[in-house]
Amino acid sequence: MIGNKNISTPSVLIIGAGLSGLALAYYLQKNDIPFQLLEARSRTGGRIFTSYQKGGAPLEMGATWLGKKHFELNGLLKELGIEIFAQILGDRAIYEPISTSPPQLVSLPPNNDPSYRIKGGSSFLINTLADKIGPENILLNQVVTNISSTTNGISVKTKSDEFQADLVVATLPPFLLTSTIKFHPALPATLKEITTATHTWMGASIKVGLRYTAPFWRAENSSGTIFSNAGPIPEMYDHSDADEQYFSIKGFFNGAYFSISKEERLKMVLTQLEKYYGPQVRNFVSYEECAWRNEPFTYVSYNQHVLPHQNNGHTAFSDALMEGRFYLTGAETAAQYAGYMEGAVRSAQRVAKQIMEAHSGLTTKI
Ligand SMILES: Cc1cc2nc3c(=O)[nH]c(=O)nc-3n(C[C@H](O)[C@H](O)[C@H](O)COP(=O)(O)OP(=O)(O)OC[C@H]3O[C@@H](n4cnc5c(N)ncnc54)[C@H](O)[C@@H]3O)c2cc1C
Repeated sequence: MIGNKNISTPSVLIIGAGLSGLALAYYLQKNDIPFQLLEARSRTGGRIFTSYQKGGAPLEMGATWLGKKHFELNGLLKELGIEIFAQILGDRAIYEPISTSPPQLVSLPPNNDPSYRIKGGSSFLINTLADKIGPENILLNQVVTNISSTTNGISVKTKSDEFQADLVVATLPPFLLTSTIKFHPALPATLKEITTATHTWMGASIKVGLRYTAPFWRAENSSGTIFSNAGPIPEMYDHSDADEQYFSIKGFFNGAYFSISKEERLKMVLTQLEKYYGPQVRNFVSYEECAWRNEPFTYVSYNQHVLPHQNNGHTAFSDALMEGRFYLTGAETAAQYAGYMEGAVRSAQRVAKQIMEAHSGLTTKI
């Protein structure tokens, strides 16, 4: 039942074509439920964004690693025929304890629970899902501004168009959702209080990566694994491709530097790396970065201090809203592994089941 109507195959409008939105579309497609995705950006993937360059390693600007315990994500990858490979950590790391001491090469303990990367880049998962559900079902450059209940369903306004559907599912990080989209009638005040204090995982982070023709960091007495308290790069890792054909290193950059230019950040990256590897660091093929805080479809400034993962997985996110016509999904809404790719997939599975159970009473195919 939707409101007071019995609709067996409701039309579903999904807002956001990140992993959660695309996975939900994939599950709805399996269950013969019609859907359409509206995506604000000119690309799919949201916080998954691999920079590709011909003849160079794919560089992850967003989500990169998964673990063996990420069962639902691993299951989806397997089903789609996508392989994973272990992250190279090596047996030692370059460690810079404080800015007044020189960097040291330290031994790393054996890693019994390695992290994995997606072969072909994390965006390969996104592109595979988009191909499966049909690119014609994904409308790009559609920035949703209003969601309103109508007598027959829900109306969704974007900056350029208006859409109608029986059901709407929003995949935006909860704080972004209630900060940037107007609702009529207003969402429950208690939910708004929770979203206002919900952290968007990695929303303020900066990633930097450099492609090189040779992996000089693999030389004896060196390492591509960097841990630095002196910064501005606190962590960096070997980021060469799965087939070891193309070489790169990639890491995090202190998020406080979001307001300076790309050129200024690059200068700081090279100064830090030169300390470890010498002037060869300047012979890079290309430099890529993403300051996620400057991405309006991921990050909006909080009005209060919010802790990492605060309110992630809150039970209020799984309630059906607007008389059973409006649902929330997305990594931050997942009861487990909230904030991560695994959470994005799990929350999509939850909403697919909620829709199937509420509106057709059928067992959901996942
Ligand atoms: C730098 C970084 C590193 C990360 N590293 C990892 C990692 O190693 N492992 C891991 O598991 N996870 C990692 N994550 C988290 C991972 O990226 C997310 O958990 C996952 O991608 C979230 O998917 P989602 O679909 O829930 O949300 P999103 O990817 O945020 O998707 C939401 C979508 O909604 C769209 N949108 C926003 N506003 C509107 C609007 N008004 N109208 C229409 N569309 C809109 C956005 O453009 C976006 O496509 C990382 C994230 C970042 C940023």
